[in-house]
Amino acid sequence: PKRADSVGFAIVGLGGYALNQMMPRFSQAARAHVAAIVSGNPDKLRQVGDAYGVPPESRYSYENFAKIASDRRVDAVYIVLPSGLHADWTERAFAAGKHVLCEKPMALSSAECERMIAAGRRANRKLMIAYRSHFEPNNMQAMELMAQNAVGQLRLLRTEQSYRMGPTSPSENWRVNRALAGGGPLEDYGIYGLQAALYLAREMPESISATGFRPAGDPRFAEILAHVSSQLRFPSGAVAQLVTSYDSAGGNIVQARGTTGSLIMDPATGYSGNRMVLETGRDRREFGPAESTVQFARQLDHFADAIRDGTQIKTPGEMGLRDLRLIEAIYASAETGRTVML
Ligand code: NDP
Repeated sequence: PKRADSVGFAIVGLGGYALNQMMPRFSQAARAHVAAIVSGNPDKLRQVGDAYGVPPESRYSYENFAKIASDRRVDAVYIVLPSGLHADWTERAFAAGKHVLCEKPMALSSAECERMIAAGRRANRKLMIAYRSHFEPNNMQAMELMAQNAVGQLRLLRTEQSYRMGPTSPSENWRVNRALAGGGPLEDYGIYGLQAALYLAREMPESISATGFRPAGDPRFAEILAHVSSQLRFPSGAVAQLVTSYDSAGGNIVQARGTTGSLIMDPATGYSGNRMVLETGRDRREFGPAESTVQFARQLDHFADAIRDGTQIKTPGEMGLRDLRLIEAIYASAETGRTVML
C-alpha cells in the first residue's frame, strides 16, 4: 500500500528503460507513484497513460511540458531521455518548480552538470542521479565489506562493462551518436565500473591514464569510440583498471583484490541475478542474487524520503559532476596519450 504522502513522478521519455524496467517497479515503492508521462509519441501517451491510470490532462508532449508547473499531482520529474538531453530537461523541470531524478550519466560534460546543480539551487529543489547500484543489495554489502577492510588493504580493482552492439549508425541509434551519447561506452555502461571503483576504493584517484580505440569504416563507431580502457592510481597505492566496450562479448564484472582476500562481483550491477563472492584464505562467502531487483523501488523511495523528510541523498548531483570530471580526464588522457594528474 502507498503512503498517503506518496511522491508523484512525471516520467520524461517513454523508452526501453522507462517502460520495461522503471515504470513497472513503481508498484513496489512505498512512497512513489507515476503521476504524469511526457513523450514525443501520442500513441505511447495514450497506451501507457491508460495502462498506468494517468489522466489525459497529465499526459504531456515535449512542446507543452511547461504546463506541468501547475500540475499539482506532480512533485518530481524523472528524466529517462538520451543522455545528451539530460541537462536541458533537468533545467526545464526545475524551471517548472519540480524536483528532479535524472538517469545516469548525469550529462555529457562537467559544465552541463554545474548548470544543472545551479538550476536546482535557484529553484530550491532536489536533484538525484539514478545510480541504482547504491540501492542494490550486493553492491551495498560490498561497500560495507570494503569499509571493514574485508580484503585487507586494497591493491587491485578491475572492472569490465561490455557488450557487442548490433549493426547500427548515429542516425538510427542515440547510443552511437556523439551529441546524444558522448564519447563512447564509458558514459552509458563503463560508468558502472567507474562508480564501483570509487565506492569500493573509498578514495579519489590522483592520476589517470587511458586509451581508446575506434575501428575504421564501421558505421557504429563513426562518431564514438568502441572501447575505452583506463587506469586510475589512488593515494593509498591501489590501482584500478577499467575497461568498457560496445564491440566485445558481454561482461559486467567488478573485482577488488587486497592483501588478504578478493571480492568478485559477476555479474556486478545487473537488473537482477547479481552474484558476489568474498574469498579470504580458506573462507569463501557467497552472496546470492535473490534480492537484486529491490534496487529500483528502493531508489524511488530514497528520493521520496529526501523530498518529504529532508533526508540526505546518497547519489546527488555533486556525485554525477564528480564522475563527469573523471570521464573528461579519461578522454583527455586517451586523446593526448599522457597521464592526467588530478
Ligand atoms: P531508449 O532509446 O530506449 O529511450 C529513450 C527515449 O527518449 C525514447 O524512447 C524517446 O521517448 C525519448 N527521446 C526523446 N528525444 C529523443 C531522441 N532525440 N532520440 C532518441 N530518443 C529520444 O533509451 P533508454 O531507455 O535505454 O535510455 C534512456 C536513459 O536511461 C539514458 O540516459 C540511459 O543512460 C539511461 N539508462 C539507465 C539504465 C540504468 O540501469 N540505470 C539502463 C538503461 C538506460 P518518447 O518516444 O516517449 O518520446
